[in-house]
This record gives sequence, C-alpha cells and structure tokens, in this order.
Amino acid sequence: MSSNWTNFAYLISAILFILGLKGLTHPRTAVRGNMLGACGMLLAIVVTLLAYDIVSPWVIGIGLVAGAVVGAGLAIKIEMTAMPQLVALFNGFGGVASVFVAGAWLAARTVSDATTSDEIVAASASGLIGSVTFLGSFVAFAKLQGLKWFPDGNVIPAQKLVNALLFVLSILLSVFLVQSPSADYYFWLIVILGAGLGVFLVTPIGGADMPVVIALLNSYSGLAAAATGFVIGNNVLIIAGALVGASGLILTGIMCKAMNRSLTNVVFGTLAPSESGPSADEVYAGKIKSTSADEIAMLLETARKVVIVPGYGMAVSQAQHAVRDLSNLLESKNGSVVDYAIHPVAGRMPGHMNVLLAEANIPYDKLREMDDINPEMEQVDMAIVIGANDVVNPVARTDPKSPIAGMPIIDVDKARTVVVVKRSLSPGYAGIPNPLFAADNTLMYFSDGKKAFQELSEAVKET
Ligand code: NDP
Repeated sequence: MSSNWTNFAYLISAILFILGLKGLTHPRTAVRGNMLGACGMLLAIVVTLLAYDIVSPWVIGIGLVAGAVVGAGLAIKIEMTAMPQLVALFNGFGGVASVFVAGAWLAARTVSDATTSDEIVAASASGLIGSVTFLGSFVAFAKLQGLKWFPDGNVIPAQKLVNALLFVLSILLSVFLVQSPSADYYFWLIVILGAGLGVFLVTPIGGADMPVVIALLNSYSGLAAAATGFVIGNNVLIIAGALVGASGLILTGIMCKAMNRSLTNVVFGTLAPSESGPSADEVYAGKIKSTSADEIAMLLETARKVVIVPGYGMAVSQAQHAVRDLSNLLESKNGSVVDYAIHPVAGRMPGHMNVLLAEANIPYDKLREMDDINPEMEQVDMAIVIGANDVVNPVARTDPKSPIAGMPIIDVDKARTVVVVKRSLSPGYAGIPNPLFAADNTLMYFSDGKKAFQELSEAVKET
C-alpha cells in the first residue's frame, strides 16, 4: 500500500474520530458517535497492518483474537459500578503499550539507522508518561476497588520533594539518551523513575478527588500514545493520542469545576478525611427518624413537585427501572411534576447517572443539572435521595477541613421534606458522616434502592 493511500485512510480515520467525539457530546447521538469512533479505529488498524509488513500475520492475528476475547469478556461481565476501575485499567494498559512500543523501537534500531534527537525526546516522553500512567492507573484501580494496598496519604517522607527529584532526574536521563542514543538503558531508567512517580503522585489522592485522577490519567495515556506516534512516525497514532489527551484534559477541567477544586490542589494536595470532623455517633445519635413506604406514599399524595436525586447506590441496586416506574405513577396518579437532579460526580464515573437513567428511557429533559435545579430546591415538596451520599452532604458547605470541602452539592436539605433511601448509615465514597440524615426535615428509608422503589410504587397505588 502506497504511503499516499495510507495517509488518506488515516485522514478518514481522524475525521471519524472527530465526528465520533462530537456525537458523544449528547446522549441522543452518543451511540452513533461511539460507532463512528470504532469504525475509525478499525480502519486505522486494518490500514496499518496492510501498510507495514513487519510482523507475521499470524502473530498479529493471535494478538487480535486474544485482545478481542479479553475485551469482549470484560465488557460483557463487568458491572456498571465497576466501570471506573475498568477505565483505570484501560488507561494503564494504554500507557504500558506506549512504553513497550517506544522501547521496542529503540531496541530494534541497527547501527546504520539514523536517529534524530526529536525521536529520542519523543521516546523518552513515551517512557516517562507511559509508565506514570501505568503505575498511577494501577494505584487508582486498587483504590477504586477498595483494595487497601495503597492507603490514602504519603508513602514516604518529603514525598513532594522526591516527586520533583524523580521528574528532574528523568529529564536529565532523556538528555543523556539524546547524547548517547545507543544507550537504551537510559530509557528503561526513565521508565523505572516514571513508575515511582506514578505511585507517589496518585497514592496521596483520595476522598472525592478520584474522578479527577481518572480523567487526568486518561489524558496522560493519550499524550503517551501521541509521543509514541512521533517515535514510530505514525500519523494516526499522533492524532488519536492528541484527541484522547485533549479530551481527557477538558474532562479533568469539568470535573475540577464540578468539585470546586483546582487541578494543582488535586494533584499536589494531600487529602485525608478530616481528623477533627465529628464522629458518626456525634452526628446521628438520637436524631435519626426512619420511615416506611406507606408513610412516604401518604406524604407523596400532596407533593406537587418531587425531585429524585440518584447516586452510586442506585447503580449498585440497579434501581433505574423501578425509579422510572415510581415517577410515572406519581405523574399519572398524583399529578406531581417529577424531575431528576444530576450531580456531575454522582456515582463512580462521569455521566454514570445519565447512562443509567437513559437506559430506563427517562426523557432527557427531566434530567436537570445541579446548577439548574438548586435555585428551585426551596419550592420542592419532596426530594427523594436514592443511594446518594457525598453529593448531598451539607458538610461540603460548612466544614473547610472536610475531604469534600467546597464541593458544590445538590441542596436537598432546602426541600420541604427529604427522604433518603439507603441500606444503613454507612458513609459514602469520601468516608464521612452526613448531617443531612439527622436533619429535622429528613426521613430515612433503610432499604436496598430497587426494593424500596418497588415497595413505594405499591404503596402509592394503594393510597
Ligand atoms: P456515595 O459514594 O457518596 O454514597 C453512595 C451511597 O449509596 C452509600 O452511602 C451507600 O449507603 C448507598 N448504597 C450502596 N448500595 C446501595 C443499595 N443497594 N441500595 C441503596 N443504597 C445503596 O455516592 P454519591 O453518588 O453521592 O457520590 C459519589 C462519590 O464517588 C463522590 O465522593 C465522588 O467524588 C466519588 N467518585 C466519583 C466518580 C465519578 O466519576 N462520578 C469516580 C470515583 C469516585 P449504604 O451502604 O448504607 O446503603
């Protein structure tokens, strides 16, 4: 295949990627966007295999089949609630793939091959960013999975100083590699330093900041791929990597804004639950009022404006269909107006709640963003919180030492009555008690989310 045709096909792939990203900006066009992006990737892979006749087709075939089987298996088996972990792993694999491609390119050069400084700098960038992404994503995966391998907090004393040293050393090593391009071991030293940096950078980040980290690592994996594209002179890898890098960075910005945090604060600030915060006993003792489906159904009879606030627990209990059934019933039987208040970091991945509610065919115009619905909260007769905790925790407004300090929340505490559906008084992701549960206008309905909404629908039918 001539290089003109190859580059033409790469251009088509790049256009498909961009159209795909555009499609992903709205739920209505998201599926088509996904398909366009996938077609672009298929075209890029097929053309690359045809254009570069380096590796035996058998090796490529075995790799493709193994990758497809593992990918399809994971996609089918994985629970929606475990998606962030999967995304973390995918980011990590992307990073390590870039390291191996750049490393293989260095190792495969012969004495007669002329190597430019640009290529060596790009290879060093692949090695550093790729290994930071790999180990950083691995730590993020362990944290999201609840594995206590990496406790929140610094791993070693003066960790920020060590991080700065590791970074400066990696840059020095890349200068050495430019000066002596045949000394591949500099590259692998950069990879080792990057791995240390990945662990040290992500370990201290915890609490509610994980969404930002995942988005940032996603961006890093794109940058590593783009750098690798420069190393092997592959245009489509440069374009795809740059698109992932840029979109990951935009998502990181959106997440930071949603949590009222600056990126420097997330990456360099150490967050641990506030030592001085009150204990669960202090917050809850003697103040919790639990309720039943019948009592809520009675209150709902006179509730004109109802807002449902979904969180991670709705995903765990897969309650989205039961939630839709209840809201349809409230609208048809009681004449209530039911809206959904969506917090940008509710659940465990960006857009988690939107995806679940769309799956249950809840109209998009009923999904109201936090900034849009908060000013109306005082007119809401009943806010029903299902499996949300951190995103409705008023401590974010009141305790500057809290791990969620400053994060904008959905102001359910301002509604006339709040019903919180969850199984117990356990904390959410940030690990802190929630005074909302003890507020005068709050009733706790202790149950699994799906079961609670099914029982509520029955009770509403009977009132
Ligand atoms: P939280 O993690 O704060 O709280 C979830 C609540 O759901 C828990 O308190 C739990 O209580 C309840 N729950 C669990 N299972 C069930 C069930 N079967 N039925 C009913 N309730 C259940 O969730 P939020 O959505 O409020 O907040 C998301 C948090 O996750 C934020 O801190 C955010 O920063 C973080 N995060 C978000 C990511 C994102 O991209 N969106 C990524 C990573 C982290 P109980 O056990 O008592 O039932």
